[in-house]
Amino acid sequence: MPPATVEALEERSGGMCEAGCGRRAQDIHHRRFLSRGGRHNLANLLALCGSGNHTGCHGIAHRGHAPAGWAISRHERRGEADVPFVDLAGRSWWLDDAGQKTQGRKESP
Ligand SMILES: [Zn+2]
Repeated sequence: MPPATVEALEERSGGMCEAGCGRRAQDIHHRRFLSRGGRHNLANLLALCGSGNHTGCHGIAHRGHAPAGWAISRHERRGEADVPFVDLAGRSWWLDDAGQKTQGRKESP
């Protein structure tokens, strides 16, 4: 992953798990898994706690019962920026590839 992408993600998350559990982020999660054609674009990435897909919020994201938007189905046609993720507190967040994270409903064009 490009170092600039990692830096932008750290800046967006403030070093904290973006699921909102209150722990520090340790891992980078791909919402559209790399095995499903996911890329290293910021809208596809979440800074999560845990390690190696098995523990913490990163583990939750890979166990199939995560809140909406943590793992994007291979059948989902929308781009990652158009699929919000819902954190542990039930808040919806929109991510974009420029490193922005916006809470709530996206403005209609
Ligand atoms: Zn967490």
